[in-house]
Amino acid sequence: MKSYRKELWFKTPSRRAFINITQKVNECLAESGVSEGLLLVNAMHITASVFINDDESGLHHDMDVWLDRLAPEKPYSQYRHNTCEDNADAHLKRSIMGREVVVAITGGKLDFGTWEQIFYAEFDGKRRKKVLVKIIGE
Ligand code: ZN
Repeated sequence: MKSYRKELWFKTPSRRAFINITQKVNECLAESGVSEGLLLVNAMHITASVFINDDESGLHHDMDVWLDRLAPEKPYSQYRHNTCEDNADAHLKRSIMGREVVVAITGGKLDFGTWEQIFYAEFDGKRRKKVLVKIIGE
């Protein structure tokens, strides 16, 4: 069995952002040489997520508005976590959007549904953060 590990690094200029990382993940898959197996992609920070959905800007706007309605960034004083930090909303947003995705690898390709793409979701950006890509298989 082959095993592959890589870290992808991101630093978004804004506090919140969605980044399509499908191409980077495809490059990892090609580098791994795995043609049948499983691929895991997870955020290595508790204020960021990795999720799969459509690459459509209207939807991303809707998600951002929806998440900020569920867990508004401000006022910071509404959260107990914000006694020494100001990112309680980012922890909550990450909890909703999840930590990771797992994708089947078939015939050397990501076995996606038609519109599926992989995204890094940043909820407390402007600093360097990483994503783990782990691939196992034959
Ligand atoms: Zn925090």
